[in-house]
Amino acid sequence: MPRFRQILDSMAPYKPGKAVAAPDGRSYKLSSNESPYDPLPSVVEAVAEGARQIHRYPDAGSVALTEAIAARYGVPAEHVATGPGSVTVAQQLLEAVGEPGAEVVYAWRSFEAYPLLADLAGVTSVRVPLAGEDHDLDAMAEAVTDRTSLIFVCNPNNPTGTAIRRRELTAFLDRVPEDVLVVLDEAYREYVRDEDVPDGVELYRDRPNVCVLRTFSKAYGLAGLRVGYLIGHEPVASAVRKTTVPFAVNHLAQLAAVASLQAEDELLDRVERVVKERTRVSEALAAQGWTVPHSEANFVWLRLGERTADFAAACAAEGVAVRPFHPEGCRVTIADPEANDAFLAAAASFAHRTGES
Ligand SMILES: *Cc1c(COP(=O)(O)O)cnc(C)c1O
Repeated sequence: MPRFRQILDSMAPYKPGKAVAAPDGRSYKLSSNESPYDPLPSVVEAVAEGARQIHRYPDAGSVALTEAIAARYGVPAEHVATGPGSVTVAQQLLEAVGEPGAEVVYAWRSFEAYPLLADLAGVTSVRVPLAGEDHDLDAMAEAVTDRTSLIFVCNPNNPTGTAIRRRELTAFLDRVPEDVLVVLDEAYREYVRDEDVPDGVELYRDRPNVCVLRTFSKAYGLAGLRVGYLIGHEPVASAVRKTTVPFAVNHLAQLAAVASLQAEDELLDRVERVVKERTRVSEALAAQGWTVPHSEANFVWLRLGERTADFAAACAAEGVAVRPFHPEGCRVTIADPEANDAFLAAAASFAHRTGES
């Protein structure tokens, strides 16, 4: 038998969101925070055109995409590094900082990829419990030791949807030692409407140890192509470039991402529709008696405790796939009105049947 690293025995593999179908065939996938909309024709066209070049390796440096992102945010191209999904960029950052014995601090519950990536990189996870549904930034600052090399701050937080405001976040950043990298994971930034929630791209500018992760997977609707990126100072961006596997972002993904930035207004109109639906769904859930933390993302969180698995099963029976984290709660993606209505009906009948919500 070949010998494998011991950590593989204890690692929980990443569980992707499932699709389910009701007996009548209805199926709504609200388990992966994807865009509910079909790709834009202009993006499909760019990908179809790009298919003619797939016998060639892609541009290893994603130059056109990097420049388009830099122009979009008004940052130097040297401050941008792309990767095959921002999850991979996060992994590269951990590999870049993770000397043996290093620690990574993050809130828990937060993005389920963090523990997995930390284990893979050989970095020790230090999980700081949420305070209610929010990051406990004081406790996170106190959890920093001289072994800490990286901190993930997921804003808005996946899966609770809550967002950290400017004053709190800047006070936290002021407390973090300068040699610790703070990664602001802003996968859901486009859905934020609270003006007090800071844009990481503003915060990183005068802070060399702060960087931002963004993705084309959610608001830009390219989850299937895998493109994400980092915005950070030159040493951070260059660490990401060094830890990549060659040609990580494929040609079609690069073209689709550039085409998406060109069609950004159309995509952000779709985001606005999801935000309106978020309000409608949150209010409808509250009217059913559920307690729903205010979400700034494209999903809502129901803290169901021991009822989590039952609730997910009841939704599945109605053709609605949600993301259960038993025994904590369910995360439910906001999609188009029809899918959201199917979810609201399932939630109402669960509340009615169990006599509680
Ligand atoms: C979805 C998500 C990502 C982005 O993943 P990709 O690898 O870019 O598809 C990153 N962080 C969080 C918190 C997410 O929920």
